[in-house]
Amino acid sequence: MNICLNDKIISALSEAVSSENIKAWVTGGYVRDCLLKREHGARDVDIVVLGDGIESARKSARKLGPGIRVSVFRNFGTAMFRYNDFDIEFVGARKESYSRDSRKPVVEAGTIEDDQKRRDFTINALAISINRETFGEFSDPFGGINDLKNKIIRTPLDPDVTFSDDPLRMMRAVRFAAQLNFTIDPVTLKSIAKNAERINIVSAERIAGEFNRIIMSDHPSKGFVLLEKTGLLKLIFPELDNLKGVEKKEGKAHKDNFLHSVKVLDNISSKTDNLWLRWAALLHDIAKPQTKKYTPETGWSFHGHEYIGSKMIPGIFKRFKLPLNEKMKYVQKLVDLHLRPMVLSQETVTDSAVRRLLFEAGDDIDDLMLLCEADITSKNEVTKKRHLENFKLVRSKLVEIEAKDALRKFQPPVDGNEIIRTFGIKPGKEIGIIKNTIREAILDGIIPNEHGAARELMLRKGRELGLTPADESSQEQI
Ligand code: ATP
Ligand code: MG
Repeated sequence: MNICLNDKIISALSEAVSSENIKAWVTGGYVRDCLLKREHGARDVDIVVLGDGIESARKSARKLGPGIRVSVFRNFGTAMFRYNDFDIEFVGARKESYSRDSRKPVVEAGTIEDDQKRRDFTINALAISINRETFGEFSDPFGGINDLKNKIIRTPLDPDVTFSDDPLRMMRAVRFAAQLNFTIDPVTLKSIAKNAERINIVSAERIAGEFNRIIMSDHPSKGFVLLEKTGLLKLIFPELDNLKGVEKKEGKAHKDNFLHSVKVLDNISSKTDNLWLRWAALLHDIAKPQTKKYTPETGWSFHGHEYIGSKMIPGIFKRFKLPLNEKMKYVQKLVDLHLRPMVLSQETVTDSAVRRLLFEAGDDIDDLMLLCEADITSKNEVTKKRHLENFKLVRSKLVEIEAKDALRKFQPPVDGNEIIRTFGIKPGKEIGIIKNTIREAILDGIIPNEHGAARELMLRKGRELGLTPADESSQEQI
């Protein structure tokens, strides 16, 4: 028997479908990840049955226990329920055909082989019987097992047909190559390059889904290099595609910013699973093409690319239908600040510069430091070591200053209400001026981040602005 079918969940499903006389196979990611012994394998189980998928799901769920709620997706002919922390999805085996301009297939019932044909890759099209009498028998008409062994992504049919039917599959090919560290079969790869334009009919949400999975894979650069090579990148993410290439003037060349960006993404991926930090790594140099300049005296410069880059992010997020909320602002902030620790480390690290950085980065300071360290992609080991040593110094300064001044969660020690009450004034521009003065004095280290000192400064600045504390003026009136 196949070792993959030892799972309790499969035995339970086997009992359920067999007692209902449903012919059923387990397929898709569950089978693939199980055969690959992937540690964090699929938590969803795809079951293909002969006949009606929705009815079979209902019957099986009833057998498995009372109270299991079945969600039905009638449009897709599928039904799903949760069992033992797994999502079990049922679909009736079917034949599909597509028209050229639409993702909406014409669907009719089919055999297991028909169903395998409509799947994206041979390694996802393996099916194993879970019926009692034939339990563990493989259906592998397209050599999926061989491709798993040889680490190959290949379509079951002519790739031009598979990709034309659903162009998202081109991105899925790249995603699986990055996630599993597989190679895309040359014929399949060629077909992606040929059909790349068809990606334009796919919705932004589906593209973003696969894009995020590539970013979250262990070696995202592998995925990005494939996206670039096949021409998909240019179509779905022209700004990133624009980063590639090297220009040389008077013997001086700048680095290839596309390869650099995906290397930074790889670097950070070994440290964090935070999707948005990974996005920040990918986008940190996105405005380099627009800001590129050459002068004979200083060579290549990309002045202001961090600021312009951060301004490009809302447009990119909108196009990908990514959330336009605090996640986006976080990415913007990291891109905007990504040069600061490096600049800091190249000068004498003054307390006030560290204070300002802490104040601006707030709680994201640790992520910013991770990004800056990942940004060092120099092949020169000596340079690399020097930068990392400098960052160590910045990090210890950050800890020291934070312990003293608590700027990460900076709350003005004197707030607007206190200013209004103290001077008995209405909200107006003086409040902003006083608050600013206090903040600047704290950041410059002129006063400590404490209420007493801040209040004293408020009174002084208020007088300078011609304001009198309310209690004093009431005293005068007495
Ligand atoms: P994971 O769940 O790890 O993302 P998966 O292979 O299970 O990987 P799903 O999106 O869950 O991927 O899809 C389950 C199965 O359905 C796939 O293994 C594949 O057989 C089939 N499938 C999914 N999307 C497509 C598609 N766009 N075209 C063809 N077959 C697909
Ligand atoms: Mg899955």
